[in-house]
Amino acid sequence: MREILVTGGSGFLGSHLCDALLERGGSVLCVDNFFTGQRNNIKHLLGRTDFELMRHDVVDPLNVEVEQIFNLACPASPVHYQFDPVQTTKTSVLGAINMLDLARRLDVPVLQASTSEVYGDPRVHPQSEDYWGRVNPIGPRSCYDEGKRCAETLFFDYHREHSVKIKVMRIFNTYGPRMHPNDGRVVSNFVVQALQGDPITIYGDGNQTRSFCYVDDLIGGMLALMDSADGTTGPVNFGNPNECSMLELAERVLSLVDSKSEIVFKPLPQDDPIQRCPDITIAKRDLDWAPKVNLEDGLGETVSWFRHTLDI
Ligand code: NAD
Ligand code: UDP
Repeated sequence: MREILVTGGSGFLGSHLCDALLERGGSVLCVDNFFTGQRNNIKHLLGRTDFELMRHDVVDPLNVEVEQIFNLACPASPVHYQFDPVQTTKTSVLGAINMLDLARRLDVPVLQASTSEVYGDPRVHPQSEDYWGRVNPIGPRSCYDEGKRCAETLFFDYHREHSVKIKVMRIFNTYGPRMHPNDGRVVSNFVVQALQGDPITIYGDGNQTRSFCYVDDLIGGMLALMDSADGTTGPVNFGNPNECSMLELAERVLSLVDSKSEIVFKPLPQDDPIQRCPDITIAKRDLDWAPKVNLEDGLGETVSWFRHTLDI
């Protein structure tokens, strides 16, 4: 049985990845410091002989024996990554070094959960992997954006200098069951607000766009990238190119939930990107990957899950 390390394994994406790996017959070592992760996300796995949970901070070196490494540890919501920005940078940079050192010692592949945030507030649309991005190096989002950019640099330098087998995945906004109700990201905020009859908070005028990918599609892409030939290093964009404004998203959620919540407008956070949409040509061409779940269906699943979790 293949022993697989998932850092950030009790978080939103990490817990779905653990499920998918176990489903394929792997044995999972889930490492997390529980900063944003929840025991609830993995409680159905505790007690299984093929699943092990280790409380550990990736800022510190880790010495384990595994055959593959998925490095997902890092808070992803702006509210959380800005809570302790120095720790966020350390998590991305030292976490990458520690996972790369481990991959080098064991001679095993390591996948990095990078992000569309490496493109910052882009001037190229949609964003393709050869765009270098437009990131403010000193703003409130920089700890995340620059931390992830530096992690990518480290991945490629370990690859060039030490022949580490790397897989760099640029993940665009992903949503679905197991997002934390207080996560602060837009899909969970709108769904929880609509279900509770609270005002829907749109930041700015709501014309900014994002492209939302359903979690099952994203995890499929993560596995496809890890399964690819050693030479396929990435970076590869993964996301759903179906772009949508925050106003449209609010309206879709309100109609799905059949909610009477009013829409209120709040200030747009500093450096909030105006547009974001992935160019997924490379994922389609090299990995035969494309998202399958449309926003209507994915939001439906998400709403059902929050209804059940919040008991509404
Ligand atoms: P999440 O906050 O739900 O999960 C992150 C997990 O990492 C949590 O379980 C948290 O406790 C853990 N963690 C944080 N710092 C740690 C540390 N120092 N040591 C050990 N564990 C630590 O977020 P998510 O949405 O599941 O994101 C997972 C990964 O995917 C992140 O690296 C994120 O940057 C990346 N990503 C996510 C999205 C998205 O839309 N969900 C988009 C782009 C990139
Ligand atoms: N947003 C919003 N209302 C909210 C939360 C977020 O209008 O309650 C906006 C936010 O300003 C951004 C978009 O939704 O323009 C996506 O935000 P999120 O934090 O989900 O992801 P990111 O900005 O990291 O892409």
